[in-house]
Amino acid sequence: MNTFSTQTSSQTIPVKNVGEQGVPLIDKFGRRFEYLRLSITDVCNFSCQYCLPDGYQCDSPRNFLSSDECNILVRAFAKMGTKKVRITGGEPSLRNDLTSIIKQTAEVQGIEQVAITTNGYKLEKELRQWVDAGLTSLNLSIDSLDPRQFQQITGDGRLQSILKGLELAIELNLQVKVNAVLLKEFSESQLALFFDFVKSNNITLRFIELMQTGDNEAFFNAQHISGASIEDKLLELGWSLKQKAQWAGPAKVYKHADYLGRIGLIMPYSKDFCADCNRLRISSLGKLHLCLFAEKGIELRDTIAKCLAEDDPSKLISEIQHLLGQKEATHYLDAGYTGATQHLAMLGG
Ligand code: SAM
Ligand code: SF4
Repeated sequence: MNTFSTQTSSQTIPVKNVGEQGVPLIDKFGRRFEYLRLSITDVCNFSCQYCLPDGYQCDSPRNFLSSDECNILVRAFAKMGTKKVRITGGEPSLRNDLTSIIKQTAEVQGIEQVAITTNGYKLEKELRQWVDAGLTSLNLSIDSLDPRQFQQITGDGRLQSILKGLELAIELNLQVKVNAVLLKEFSESQLALFFDFVKSNNITLRFIELMQTGDNEAFFNAQHISGASIEDKLLELGWSLKQKAQWAGPAKVYKHADYLGRIGLIMPYSKDFCADCNRLRISSLGKLHLCLFAEKGIELRDTIAKCLAEDDPSKLISEIQHLLGQKEATHYLDAGYTGATQHLAMLGG
């Protein structure tokens, strides 16, 4: 088998050749991208205060990626070594063809994990069919376990059904992560409930630091708190940091012998957060985003169309390989620079 090396600041990493194309996605900083976040819509039915506080506003006609376009993209990425695809949005379960997108994705050679990030509103009803189609992992957003607070944050009153969906996901042995955005006003009163929840549930609960986006500056300034205070609390309470797998992403995950579940922290403002970046993003309009906070998305729609016509992803492969050269070492979020990202519903977080 052919191998080649990639140089990082401190070491040379031997890299196995992957895919027919033989070129894994590795950037000039030695970061390897085996994980694709594929957004299939930017529409959402919730109105989370930090994301779409006034609900989804459609200011132009939308032509979201079709399931065939999604498929040729996934085939291209798989040939460059991508093993995991996360389907996201907006709210991906609003797409009627979500189940067939999951199925097509799971059938692509080389794809080992098909994940979804959802607000959970269709979980109870549709999870079984997603799993039958090949879904392996679920990220479920639950910002509060108190129904009244949940409604206040998300604008939605279905927490009980979402929790039933979560139970089902655990029963079906999916890898489950629950995401909760840290908000100054709510998190303190929620911590005890969340800790209890993790005690008896085999899930990873991840606290995500609120990120500033183009649209939420005032909310961010009022509500942002650092995950560091939770990290200190975890250490005080005897939690220990789990060792990361070699190509794991930026979340820090803690474990405790008395707890069935784990607690993770996603702290995008912390030093070196971007050093472990392992993902690239495609927007639901077919643009490549090299970073969640990149200056712009890079149009791939024409190339997608050519590849579809030829039933061959080669042109996408060459283009994406070339574009990866533009990926920067880090975002500039700490300087308040949010790039083209007005809100995360645009791209899926
Ligand atoms: N609608 C789905 C959901 O909420 O799970 C998927 C898309 S949503 C944009 C993906 C994740 O981004 C969610 O966990 C959400 O809480 C998180 N998110 C959205 N805006 C955020 C922000 N400004 N800062 C931190 N996390 C954010
Ligand atoms: Fe919708 Fe997810 Fe944004 Fe909430 S975080 S408004 S559920 S896209």
